[in-house]
Amino acid sequence: MTAQTPNLVPEDLLLPTGTFRSEALESFVRVRWFIRLRWVAVVASFILVSLELWLYEAGPGRRAVLGVIAALALINLCWMAWSKRLRVQAAARPADETQLRQHIVLFAKAQIATDLLLLTLVLHYYGPVSNPMAMFYVFHMVITSLLLTPTTALLQGIWAMALYGLLLLGEYSGVLATPYPLFGGQALADLHTNPHLVVKSYAVVCIGVFATWHLTSQVAAALDEREREVRTRDQALERSYRKIEEMQARRARFMHTAAHQLKSPLTGIQTMAKMICDGVVDSEGALALIEKVIRRCKEAIEHIEELLTLARIKESPSTRHRVARTDLANTVATVVERHRPMADVKGITVHWEVSPQTIRVQVDARDLEDCLGNLLDNAIKYTPDAGRVEVSCACEADQVIIRVRDNGPGIAPEVQKSIFDEFRRGHYALAAGIAGSGLGLSIVREIVEQADGSVTVKSPVNQAEETAPGSEFEVRFPAWSADEPQGRA
Ligand code: ADP
Repeated sequence: MTAQTPNLVPEDLLLPTGTFRSEALESFVRVRWFIRLRWVAVVASFILVSLELWLYEAGPGRRAVLGVIAALALINLCWMAWSKRLRVQAAARPADETQLRQHIVLFAKAQIATDLLLLTLVLHYYGPVSNPMAMFYVFHMVITSLLLTPTTALLQGIWAMALYGLLLLGEYSGVLATPYPLFGGQALADLHTNPHLVVKSYAVVCIGVFATWHLTSQVAAALDEREREVRTRDQALERSYRKIEEMQARRARFMHTAAHQLKSPLTGIQTMAKMICDGVVDSEGALALIEKVIRRCKEAIEHIEELLTLARIKESPSTRHRVARTDLANTVATVVERHRPMADVKGITVHWEVSPQTIRVQVDARDLEDCLGNLLDNAIKYTPDAGRVEVSCACEADQVIIRVRDNGPGIAPEVQKSIFDEFRRGHYALAAGIAGSGLGLSIVREIVEQADGSVTVKSPVNQAEETAPGSEFEVRFPAWSADEPQGRA
């Protein structure tokens, strides 16, 4: 299925499923890597501050820095609890995942926004202009742009730069207490009052943050697209694989039934031949057996011929029909004449009519013969002695309609659909012991489908007054028109 899960909430709030970002966001909750990273930051900051306190004289802001680190650890505990809740919700596999996904997005947004605030506080205590920690804004921007939508990432960037700007302005104007540069860098302590440096620092960080937002969002969008393509291809491959499996199973079933059908006449032939060889029957009985052997051989050969016809039709490209201009009247006449001896044996009259003007059909000539041959063969085979079979042809719009009607036993409505399946034989055929392979109508269906036609069967069985209601097979094929010299496109 190539259709994607519909995006139920505004794009800005929630990423569509099956994209790189939505996957990343899910793993963000599952793996908790952001929380782990924060623990690393807590430990690293703690070591750094301790080192500074040990090496240098403790400045008045260091206790405040330790307070910020403690706050970060505390908040991280809250994130851990929230993440656990989300994982429990995800494990429960809710029917509607929209709410869960909204939660995940909110979780990510809250973490990033809080981190930006804490980062600004740390920067304040370590001197925003004089130390390179401002690059962590860029680091947050990369994560935000990879996980969230471009609009959300931009809003986070604006939030970060507003905080940084207020901090610089506050320190420059003296509203905020003087910062305390890292590792006792007292020489740098006055940098925050240098307007050029303040403006340059702010501009560089701003450019870094928004350029990162732009580039990373583009990369994430390209990855999203790629992920979608890969998924679509995966699904298509999955479907093809399932189709191949189905086809293989069908082919195996077909081979099994075909082999079985061929085995029964051959077993009969073997038994009868052995009886003759062993002298179990006298010469008169042997003659009768030989006749039976010949009949069974004929049946087996007919089965094989039908199998070969079906294989030939399935293997031939369907395009052969599009260039065909088969003369209908000629084909009907040939097929009827070929079947007349068979009808004569049973005293069945075969009547056929085709409209006087020349009708051409877009069906390969040999296939049309096979199709009509099978329908006529069945009509004669299943109609009792002295019955009647009619073949009529007509043109309707751009279609040619061929009807083969008989006054035989008819076909029960419940089996009318399935008789077109391979090896499917009707109750009447089996009960009356009429020989057949069950392939004739599947050959008809295969030809009709390949030639963009249709086949239907009508049989008004079970009508009280009708003793022999008969069957009518109607086949429709595209007519060839002189206006289309190349056939259909
Ligand atoms: P086969 O004739 O070898 O059994 P087909 O595929 O040609 O196989 O036909 C499938 C079944 O459809 C037959 O077994 C028979 O029961 C039924 N059938 C087909 N044509 C007719 C018909 N003209 N009258 C009655 N039954 C028919």
